[in-house]
Amino acid sequence: MSRERTILIRYDEIALKGKNRRFFIERLRHNIRSGLRGLDGVRVEVPHGRVLLHCADSQTQEIVKRLKVVSGIASMSVGVMVEPDLEAMARQGVEWIAPLVEKNPNATFCVRTRRSHKGYELTSTEVDREVGGRILEQLRPQGLSVNIDRADFRLEIEIGLPHTVMFQNRIEGLRGLPVGTSGKVLGLLSGGIDSPVALFRMIRRGCRAHAIFFDNQPYMGKGGHDKVQRLCRVLTRYQQAMRLWVVPFEEVQVAIRDNCRPDNRVVLYRRMMYRIAQALAEREGYQALVTGESLGQVASQTLENLNAVSRVVQCSVFRPLIGMDKNEIITQAKNIGTFDISIEPQPDCCSVFMPEHPVTKARLPELENDETRYPWEELLQQALEKTEVQDPEPSPF
Ligand code: ATP
Ligand code: MG
Repeated sequence: MSRERTILIRYDEIALKGKNRRFFIERLRHNIRSGLRGLDGVRVEVPHGRVLLHCADSQTQEIVKRLKVVSGIASMSVGVMVEPDLEAMARQGVEWIAPLVEKNPNATFCVRTRRSHKGYELTSTEVDREVGGRILEQLRPQGLSVNIDRADFRLEIEIGLPHTVMFQNRIEGLRGLPVGTSGKVLGLLSGGIDSPVALFRMIRRGCRAHAIFFDNQPYMGKGGHDKVQRLCRVLTRYQQAMRLWVVPFEEVQVAIRDNCRPDNRVVLYRRMMYRIAQALAEREGYQALVTGESLGQVASQTLENLNAVSRVVQCSVFRPLIGMDKNEIITQAKNIGTFDISIEPQPDCCSVFMPEHPVTKARLPELENDETRYPWEELLQQALEKTEVQDPEPSPF
């Protein structure tokens, strides 16, 4: 029979939440549960300051993979339950560390004990010393030594009620806050590299991020839509569920192209995107808009042009990438799994209608003047009425 494993889940930031702590932890527990849907027999416990998960040995790999995409988890360690007995603890330590020393005769280790069962007969430092000493006794001849600050192997012991658990090295989590603790936002998702990263950054701050895509079908074909759908399926992994709103945008773009100053077009398209997104957000109870804009990256992302688009909405607009370099954004896009989809060729819905010389410093009176030349309110209503909604399933890893 396979041995039962215990996975210790640590949450750094939630621990600071004072009176709201329970709310954050309950949300985290809920998200862990739904992240592990379909895995039988997994038990979740929430003793002081920790989440413990009990499972079969054969399930650990799959569980760790799934927990790596749960926001709010700082780190985790895989371990086993043991008797709170020094000999037994040392035996387990030797079992884990011996193979490491075999590979690397200069290996170092340390023992770190936490004791939430204050009735236990030894203090944590005493347990560190007693267990560490026994392990060293057995493995020193092979080359093992102690290094408190930078050990190759960090053996952790938690002496708690109802059980004592020992853990191997830490595995990094996503950090951040549990999805659902910060409200709902609406992200303007194009098929590019930036906007999926922007949405991800809000998800990691505890938001559920829904997406809105402005589709220019006759010009881009189905390609753009399909890409955005697949990007959503990747983003859904991090939050279990999200909605994708697809807005037909070609009529708006044609009207702007045919009636307004060419160099203002890009900013005018953007103003309409923001207006439509705000109207949808109000209707659906989303609390802010999110975009992938980054200062100075392209002509439409100067301070003047960002201001010119922000002006048309009253709600909060978040731009989590505003101060990031393209390389940093690309690295994150690769880490979260959206990069390969984003770089698939796709004619940008704006570049199809791109003027030769887009303005870098749009002037508000000019934009407002342009907007008297086409029936934007009417087109906004029509676009909203024709908007379709989808609920993309998370794609497998
Ligand atoms: P991205 O890589 O996210 O496409 P980008 O550098 O190409 O960004 P722009 O094309 O100028 O920048 O778009 C700026 C932002 O406006 C995007 O990050 C996105 O939030 C929003 N946006 C642009 N086009 C669309 C679209 N067709 N549908 C939804 N949002 C869009
Ligand atoms: Mg783009």
